[in-house]
Amino acid sequence: MEREALLGHRDHPGDRAPAPGALELVQAFVNTVDREHGPDLLDDDGGLAAWLERRLLAADLRPGDRERAREVREALRALLLANNGEPRDAAAQAALERAAKRAKLEPAFPPDGATLVPRGGGVDGALGRIIAAAFIAMLDGSWARLKACPREVCGWAFYDRSTNASATWCSMRVCGGRVKAGAYYRRRRAGGH
Ligand SMILES: [Zn+2]
Repeated sequence: MEREALLGHRDHPGDRAPAPGALELVQAFVNTVDREHGPDLLDDDGGLAAWLERRLLAADLRPGDRERAREVREALRALLLANNGEPRDAAAQAALERAAKRAKLEPAFPPDGATLVPRGGGVDGALGRIIAAAFIAMLDGSWARLKACPREVCGWAFYDRSTNASATWCSMRVCGGRVKAGAYYRRRRAGGH
């Protein structure tokens, strides 16, 4: 995928519409990497800085920021895989809780609705805004439809608008078709999922 497409969160396999509201921020962050073909925007500080500037704020990166951003991104992906029937990942939960503390997320009560606001600055604060968007989506119920594609090399985050929230693959054509005949699919079917 083109770097610009990742930066703009423009390409959506299966022609799916992006997640609604602030949840799209979470989806876009998880989708800062094309795991199968590259690139990964978090492979260098410039990529992370460019994404943050486009989506949230211009930030001077400090040592460790990029590693923490990657940890948060992959923790979110693990939760989105759990939304898709994969086992829950306790380490991912712990990673998000640590990141929320670093961001100093605090409740706020503006007239347009209760929310969480990061009191921390820099990249930690920016990551806090992404985590806050996930938190609020978990409360309003939209979270369950944000899923990560379970094909090992994919992991793309997609918003499942199907009637029964029954979609598994980011795209039936791209991923579903490739694994349908494979062991993974048989195992899943055997497990009744
Ligand atoms: Zn996929």
